[in-house]
Amino acid sequence: MKRRCKCIMCPVGCEIEIVLDDMGNVVEVIGGLCERGRNFAKETAGQNMQIVTTTVKLTEPVGEVRVVPVKTTTPIPVSQMKDVVSYLKTLEVKPPVKIGDIITDNIGGKHITVVATRSVGTS
Ligand code: SF4
Repeated sequence: MKRRCKCIMCPVGCEIEIVLDDMGNVVEVIGGLCERGRNFAKETAGQNMQIVTTTVKLTEPVGEVRVVPVKTTTPIPVSQMKDVVSYLKTLEVKPPVKIGDIITDNIGGKHITVVATRSVGTS
């Protein structure tokens, strides 16, 4: 079985393919420009990966709106979701915010990029 993932250990964002045997053991790692990324791929090969969606507070309300919806641009290991959401809860972003604006791109030293999924205060 083969799985593909996008390395989130640096901004390059290599695509890496992992070949697993019937028991789910990694037998081959294809792609990635460095050992750090190949290790990331091995460590996350058996994990569920998911896009994180949540909200980030605005520094000031825009009418009734006090938060902007956001999401990670790539799936991340489910085991890291709680830390990512907790970190995003500590952030505040100044309006106006346009859809696609980068809210943060280096959570916990990992290059997890989070973008706004809706514009707020841009009209
Ligand atoms: S494999 Fe290496 S170069 Fe590629 S994204 Fe990962 S850390 Fe960066």
